[in-house]
Amino acid sequence: MGKSIFFVTLISIIGRQLPSFLLLFLSAHGLAAGLGSYPHLVVGDSLSSPRNGVRVTYLGTNGYQFEFKGHALLVDPYFSRVDLLSVALGSRIQPNAARINDGLRHLASGNCRTDAILVTHGHFDHLLDVPAVMAKTRARLIASASSVDLVRRLPDAGASSGDAVKPGDVRRIGPWKIRVLAATHDRLFGKVPFDRPPSQALAKAGSPQRAAGWICGEPLAFLIEVNGQRIYIDSGGTPAQLPPNESGSRRMDLAILGMALPDSRARLAAALARLQPRYVLPSHQDDFFRPLSAGFQFGPLTDFPFVQRESAQQNRSRLILLDYFRPWTLPAAVNPKTQTPNPKQRIKS
Ligand SMILES: [Zn+2]
Repeated sequence: MGKSIFFVTLISIIGRQLPSFLLLFLSAHGLAAGLGSYPHLVVGDSLSSPRNGVRVTYLGTNGYQFEFKGHALLVDPYFSRVDLLSVALGSRIQPNAARINDGLRHLASGNCRTDAILVTHGHFDHLLDVPAVMAKTRARLIASASSVDLVRRLPDAGASSGDAVKPGDVRRIGPWKIRVLAATHDRLFGKVPFDRPPSQALAKAGSPQRAAGWICGEPLAFLIEVNGQRIYIDSGGTPAQLPPNESGSRRMDLAILGMALPDSRARLAAALARLQPRYVLPSHQDDFFRPLSAGFQFGPLTDFPFVQRESAQQNRSRLILLDYFRPWTLPAAVNPKTQTPNPKQRIKS
């Protein structure tokens, strides 16, 4: 009885201050499944895997590490995994130093140097941990002007931190060639969450304190070229902004496509037709309100069976999944001209 009164009170408090999507997350919690249902799709290196390719490690949410010849690149590293209630209630949120250290320990591989951190947009599940990760890795931030501005406002951020980029820009760092591309952010019931700060916050222009302070800004996608291979990554988007049309040129080797919400799923077929990737890795599908230590669970607004069906229609791409912190080396194409996946390098489950 006491428990149910507590729950009803909680829901009514939340209901007053919350976008309804968070209620949806809350109500759907506990129903989600993990990667266990898809062992045939989950890839990872084995002892016999080649060691000289581009190694991809999934960090949860839309976070990745790419490694090549002693150089690393991070995208959207987020380890703190702020809980749903703190976001829902508009509580103060902060990076979790212990979880960040744990995450980085998983990634530390000898004398690998992190060249840069790419960020797709300013939401807390992409940018909150970046200042701490920058401090630990001494990597430079490559992000939109508004994301760089958010980081600069933090009390402990160096004034010169961050390289503000826009679509069309190209950066060459170590072995990486990074092309910045335009992107959109998925809508939730018709609008982009935390699209701009409340006018009050704008006026104060202080450092972000709550989830709503980590504004989306201009969403970006990246095309990363390394080792003669091409990787496209975004955090999702709407059909209004498709990835670049690559069907006339060489196929993409790997496409990492955010798939958290319906907008992204609606553009999946068109995105695959344009990118023609050898491998397609749906991203941002996990429940990022749970700690990484709890393991991968699909988020309640994802629909992986739909993603599977759409990918099967476009049968030139191989659909894969990655588990947290389990590296996978992107196989070389058998014939770089046709870029068909190498059947010998398929990972057995
Ligand atoms: Zn977002």
